[in-house]
Amino acid sequence: MTDSDPVLRIAYLYPDLMNLYADRGNVTCLERRCAWRGLRTVVKRLEWNERLADPTDLYVIGGGQDRQQQLASKGLISHNADRILSDLGDGAAMLAVCGGYQLMAHLYRAADGSELPGLGVFDAETIHPGSDVPRCIGNVVCDWNESRIVGFENHGGRTYLGPDATPLAQVVRGHGNNAEDGTEGAVAGNAIGTYLHGSVLPKNPHLADQIIRTALARIAPDFELAPLDDAAEWAAHRAAMRAAGLR
Ligand code: GLN
Repeated sequence: MTDSDPVLRIAYLYPDLMNLYADRGNVTCLERRCAWRGLRTVVKRLEWNERLADPTDLYVIGGGQDRQQQLASKGLISHNADRILSDLGDGAAMLAVCGGYQLMAHLYRAADGSELPGLGVFDAETIHPGSDVPRCIGNVVCDWNESRIVGFENHGGRTYLGPDATPLAQVVRGHGNNAEDGTEGAVAGNAIGTYLHGSVLPKNPHLADQIIRTALARIAPDFELAPLDDAAEWAAHRAAMRAAGLR
């Protein structure tokens, strides 16, 4: 490698607060899949009250419970909204999972009725109907881009997409955004929001590579992502399908 080789700059938002169901595995997966191709990465892990100074190619945020989301919402709105929105406008990529996904839309109304503002990356809002209403819990399989993605969900909030939001995927098994309309997650430009934990990327290598590819597009459009031996990853994918009752 030389100094002129591209470096993918990843920001991992609030790992201490937003890391349900091993969501940090998404960052490890992205780092490893880049390293295996000789692509360098730097990962900046941010505390909720830290300001991100440097431009970033790929944002990652995981899930968190309502209480953790309060601080995360504050951090996003007061310290990092401008940076994140301007990078995304410039073509940066994002993976936001569950509680993080909720905070990247317009609003999350928590179980106690309090309203947490989000960044509005996705035209969507999320309403938690209250702690006496069953949560959306279980294994998920979705149709995605001529293939399937798998994961695990556990959320009280129901996310409703607005007219400017595109669903990420269509639910085959599980609840997805709201257990009503069959949609799962959202896409806006190069940003992806999803309810899938797991962590989701290690068992969905095609999704992981799509995220890396879109993040790379503006800094190194000619960098070829060499194929990897994903036998273990696809075995995990098939195991998740079976856990959801599919073959
Ligand atoms: N607190 C949110 C909800 O229950 C998000 C939970 C999560 O990230 N798993 O809807």
